[in-house]
Amino acid sequence: EGSALGVDIGGTNIKWVHRAGAVVVARGTLPTPAAGPAQVAATIAELVGARTAEAIGVALPGHLSPDLRSTTTIPNIDGEWQGYPLADTLERATAKPVLLMNDARAFASAELALGSARGHTDVVFMTMGTGIGGAIALGGSVLRGPGDRIGEIGHMTAAPGGSRCACGARGCLETVSGGRALAVAWSRVLASRGTADQDRTATPEDLVRAAQSGDTTAREILDTAATAVGTVLGSVLTQLGLSTVVVGGGVAPAFGVMRPAVELALRDRRRLIGPVTFLAAALGPYAGAMGAALNATAQPRAVASAL
Ligand code: BGC
Ligand code: ZN
Repeated sequence: EGSALGVDIGGTNIKWVHRAGAVVVARGTLPTPAAGPAQVAATIAELVGARTAEAIGVALPGHLSPDLRSTTTIPNIDGEWQGYPLADTLERATAKPVLLMNDARAFASAELALGSARGHTDVVFMTMGTGIGGAIALGGSVLRGPGDRIGEIGHMTAAPGGSRCACGARGCLETVSGGRALAVAWSRVLASRGTADQDRTATPEDLVRAAQSGDTTAREILDTAATAVGTVLGSVLTQLGLSTVVVGGGVAPAFGVMRPAVELALRDRRRLIGPVTFLAAALGPYAGAMGAALNATAQPRAVASAL
């Protein structure tokens, strides 16, 4: 078990962990540079330079090329990511082997190895953040597929003909229930009431707090979001024949408030999938970075000979 740096690229923050064997020796959070992939690569290279890791794993919030060397569609981060050769760029800058993977699949592999899904073999994972991520474990391993694209729950259709998603399609689950969608919906309500805070934009947490203190419009937004999550999960679980779901991500606390409506939407599925067990993710905000670090040394890859 070598030492590895796992880096999780999010729309707002970059989270990293430095792992030596099973021990996390350091971790941290930095703001994601807004200028696009070259700046993100430079930030990662700087991070690597300051540490002694043997391998680098990078988790990204979107799709990769079939050979896992470049990014393709990264819906929720600014900049031109289509076709960006992130693995080659980082290997050239750091002289270390670099593994790219999807952030939700990274989260799932960490939760499966060390977190709430430990001991389970067949599980659906859902991450609720700016977007909604997903992953599927069958027989004890996370399904990956070409470009690490298996499990995209956030882009399953929840509202046919609905609003345009960052992926280009309409009515994807994350346009109804993702953190950004919730924040935008709540901002609009506050603006129409003339009670928006001029100094900061509304967050999903603001929406949850309003719902908990009895605001019926806030409740309705969360109920709609929860019904969409339950409907899509019902389809996914039925298709796979599974009934265990691990829920994580920065907006996961909202899931507590949403859960009764999610369960209501799943009720008619009982005869097909039985009662659904929801498990809260156990590894916290660094799960994605941890998963990337675990995978970086699990599949060592020689540094490109072009170096
Ligand atoms: C992306 C997924 C990602 C998820 C969470 C979605 O918009 O398509 O690949 O896992 O956001 O970041
Ligand atoms: Zn979409």
